[in-house]
Amino acid sequence: MTRAAEDRPSVAVWKFASCDGCQLTLLDCEDEFLTIAGAVHIAYFPEATRAATEGPYDLSIVEGSITTSHDAERIREIRAMSETLLTIGACATAGGIQALKNWADVDEFISIVYAHPEYISSLATSTPIAEHVDVDMELRGCPISKRQLIDVIDAFLTGRRPTIPTYAVCVECKLRGTPCVMVAHGTPCMGPVTQSGCGALCPAFNRGCYGCFGPSESPNIESLREVWHAIGVDDTQLVRALRTFNAYSREFKEASDAYAR
Ligand code: SF4
Ligand code: SF4
Repeated sequence: MTRAAEDRPSVAVWKFASCDGCQLTLLDCEDEFLTIAGAVHIAYFPEATRAATEGPYDLSIVEGSITTSHDAERIREIRAMSETLLTIGACATAGGIQALKNWADVDEFISIVYAHPEYISSLATSTPIAEHVDVDMELRGCPISKRQLIDVIDAFLTGRRPTIPTYAVCVECKLRGTPCVMVAHGTPCMGPVTQSGCGALCPAFNRGCYGCFGPSESPNIESLREVWHAIGVDDTQLVRALRTFNAYSREFKEASDAYAR
C-alpha cells in the first residue's frame, strides 16, 4: 500500500545554469520513475509539475552551476533547508561547459552577444555547487547516467552507500570487450583519465571519449599526454579536450593551465 505523501521522504529538484538534460534523465527513468515517485514525495520539481510544497526537504537534487550572485545566495538557502544535497551533472559538479568563461573576458562576451548589456548581471565565473555549500553526493556526466541516478536514490531510501565507481572509462571498455580506439586506430581518447559510468559509450561507437564524466580517481593526465603526443596530438588539442564539459574540475583545470603555458 502506498504511504501518504507526508510519510514519505520529501525530494526537491532544483535548477541552476544548465541545459536541463540531467533533470530530463530523471524523467527519462520512465518505469523506474513511477516506483521512485511512489517511494518519495516529490515536493518541488518545476520541470515535471507545478504543484509545490514548502521545505524543509529530505533530499535536494541540484542541477546546474553558479553563474550569478542571486544563484550564489539561492544555493545557500537550498542547502539550509535540505537534509541531504545531491548534485547532478557536469554543470553542478564542475561548472559545466559555461565554465569556459572562467578563462575569458565575460564583459567583452556580453557586449558582443547582447543588444543591451546593461541588463545582464552575471558573475565572471561559472563554478560547481561544492565551491559554495557542502555537498553530500555528486553524480558526474553530461548528462548523468540513469542507472547511477536510480542507484543513488535507492541508496538514499535504504540508507546504504551508493555504488558509484571512480575508476576510468578504460575499465568499462575492457568489461564490455570494446577494442581500444586509441591502440587500434590512433584515435585520441580521454578514457584513461575520465570517470566511468556511461558504459564506455563513445568507444563502443568507435570514437574517442571526450571526458564528459570528468576526471577519474587519481587521473594520470601526464601519461595521457605522452600517449597523445605519440599519436600526433599536440598540447593545443589536449588543452581543448580538457576544457570542455568539466573544464573547471580541479584535475582537468590544473593540467590544462599547465599545458596551455
Ligand atoms: S577506447 Fe578509450 S576508454 Fe576505451 S580502452 Fe581505449 S583509451 Fe580507454
Ligand atoms: S565515453 Fe566519455 S564522452 Fe562518451 S559518454 Fe562516456 S564519459 Fe562521456
